[in-house]
Amino acid sequence: MTETSLATVYGYPRQGPDRELKKAIEGYWAGRVSAQDLLATAAGLRADNWRHLAEAGVREVPTGDFSLYDHVLDTTVMVGAIPPRHRAAAQDPVAGYFAMARGTQDVAPLEMTKWFDTNYHYLVPELGPDTVFAADPSKQVGELGEALALGHTARPVLVGPVTYLLLAKPAPGVDPDFEPISLLDRLLPVYAEVLAALRAAGAEWVQLDEPALVQDRDRAVLDAAAHAYRELGALTDRPKILVASYFDRLGEALPVLAQAPVEGLGLDFTGPAAANLDDLARAGGLFGKRLVAGVVDGRNVWINDLGRSLATLATLLGLADRVDVAASCSLLHVPIDLALENGLDPQVGRWLAFARQKVAEVVTLATGLSEGTEVIDGQLAANRADLASRAASALTHDPAVRARTAAVTADDARRPQPYGERAVAQRARLGLPTLPSTTIGSFPQTSELRAARADLRAGRIDQDAYDELIASEIRSVLIFQERAGIDVLVHGEPERNDMVQYFAEQLNGYLATQQGWVQSYGTRYVRPPILAGDVSRPKPMTLRWTTYAQSQTERPVKGMLTGPVTMLAWSFVRDDQPQAETARQVALALRDEVADLEAAGTAVIQVDEPALRETLPLRAADRPAYLAWATEAFRLATSGVRADTQIHTHMCYAEFGEILAAIDDLDADVISLEAARSHMQVAHELAGAGYPREVGPGVYDIHSPRVPDVEEVASLLRKGLGGIPAERLWVNPDCGLKTRGWPEVRSSLDNLVAAARVVRAEV
Ligand code: GLN
Ligand code: ZN
Repeated sequence: MTETSLATVYGYPRQGPDRELKKAIEGYWAGRVSAQDLLATAAGLRADNWRHLAEAGVREVPTGDFSLYDHVLDTTVMVGAIPPRHRAAAQDPVAGYFAMARGTQDVAPLEMTKWFDTNYHYLVPELGPDTVFAADPSKQVGELGEALALGHTARPVLVGPVTYLLLAKPAPGVDPDFEPISLLDRLLPVYAEVLAALRAAGAEWVQLDEPALVQDRDRAVLDAAAHAYRELGALTDRPKILVASYFDRLGEALPVLAQAPVEGLGLDFTGPAAANLDDLARAGGLFGKRLVAGVVDGRNVWINDLGRSLATLATLLGLADRVDVAASCSLLHVPIDLALENGLDPQVGRWLAFARQKVAEVVTLATGLSEGTEVIDGQLAANRADLASRAASALTHDPAVRARTAAVTADDARRPQPYGERAVAQRARLGLPTLPSTTIGSFPQTSELRAARADLRAGRIDQDAYDELIASEIRSVLIFQERAGIDVLVHGEPERNDMVQYFAEQLNGYLATQQGWVQSYGTRYVRPPILAGDVSRPKPMTLRWTTYAQSQTERPVKGMLTGPVTMLAWSFVRDDQPQAETARQVALALRDEVADLEAAGTAVIQVDEPALRETLPLRAADRPAYLAWATEAFRLATSGVRADTQIHTHMCYAEFGEILAAIDDLDADVISLEAARSHMQVAHELAGAGYPREVGPGVYDIHSPRVPDVEEVASLLRKGLGGIPAERLWVNPDCGLKTRGWPEVRSSLDNLVAAARVVRAEV
């Protein structure tokens, strides 16, 4: 006998329909908004969200998912793991909280890193053998109390103890081999205290999120998870526990959680996580427990296939006592409301669901499951029509694009000449010195440039005036580089708002939103473009400014493009075809751009792929297939050139580990990488892996305004020479300079060129 299915979600966008939260927080930072007013705004937004969820038919609203900055930081506060350097500031809860998030004049913030494979960033807990935890349930208890007082049934959502420890890193000064998970037994009593406090405050259920268990985990971690939930399950003074997983399948952790003495389990059934269905059947189902089924994709913007979800849910009814319906993960990762968009093609609008629309889908599915699908006949018919309109649309099926990708052969994605031959031809054409210097592309994006872009949008200046400003900015960036003595110049990217958006705006198949803001971190929100249809390039995208720049100087100017993997990674991508196919379409559009640049005389073309590593699937088993299409797409974009055209790529991180072979597979002539903070470690890693081509490990850390002196840069270069021979070593910063100020950029690049000269004389 099955019970009624409830609709629920794990979390909701925090910002408010008009990004009210961002405005209040930034106002507080600027001293314009008091802490009290900020907290009142936040409470108002929470109340609005719960009311909306309840009115939409969500019977159990999440609490505690709200955050002024980041939910992992909130967990750090909840367990009392405030780093010693922040304790003084933490006397004031609001100011102290933001001090941990953003640092102050005197203390560094917590490090920030990506939340699994999403584009949300969390603040990394810093733990060590001396960490003493202490429960502070006030935020969780407070928000639960607010929801209950408003008459809602509420379920507090917390980062689970295992995931919290797995996301942490050894605190500064602690042995880098220290494993935070070793603190589990110290942490569990703190969770026990929080659970008791939540029960006392009226929680019937509590949700503990354990997304870290969807990654490959060894026996020790699985045992730790089993232990944690045995201990928490054995508590008598606690709410019922729902352990939630998302972003992928639980795999070997599924039986661990299915057998744990907790009352509920949340599983993701979207994308690769759909494997949870078979795994659950194999594990014998979830009888005696509540299953929360994440069947609505919580991290992409497409409407659900309601019929298919109902089929999944019907199967699940045979595998658990009670099946509730949810989005696969917190709706934090999608924009808040499609109704706020007024510029979208109405036909395309029918294919899209943002947070608010996803809630409606979840409710529809729960209703259909509880009351019979005839009750939702109308919604099912409309959904079928919308899906059919998407499948049949000319936007999603451009015959010319289809014919072109279908005709791609392996040879199209291979440069005809081996690297050795290319290197000789490029050397002859470019005539560069040993240890040539270059930059990664962007120069400081001044407030003047940003204001001009806003003026253009608002119609305060016309296109000609804007273009003249861009041209003059390019000229001054070129003059600076020539004077500094840089060998391969860039135009500085002044015309680009963002490295993905700039191209997305010019390619067919991409859509832009007006209000589709998604939290990247803290108060930083981005509007990812939506890759909705078949991709093609109506006309050249970068040719004009690149050739203009080249016309102003005798030195080579590097063309600058964003690679296919990054064009996908920082967008919402299609879910109606494999990513490999979408990447191929983008790659072919870029291939045409590369050909146009080459034909116009560009001798050096850089195709940035900073997202290559961050897009790695969470499960190792899925990585070879990903790396195969990702590297093929890069090569497809870049392999149509002559031997004497030099292809560069760029990635901004230092740890390569398992993608070293993939980097080799890109077959780029030159790769520039972040390396300054890791003391050129990557040069040695690449050398150790036998990397055969040219490398520019960054010698200027662009993440800080600090100006490295000549000797510092020279010593990094000498370290680089320990791995990469002089004839294959480039001299460049870690990344683009757009976030830096001109004064420090000038001095740093002067020092970089001077250091290249010093070391050049030594080799
Ligand atoms: N060419 C880009 C720039 O310099 C690269 C940015 C990046 O790697 N994230 O800004
Ligand atoms: Zn970079």
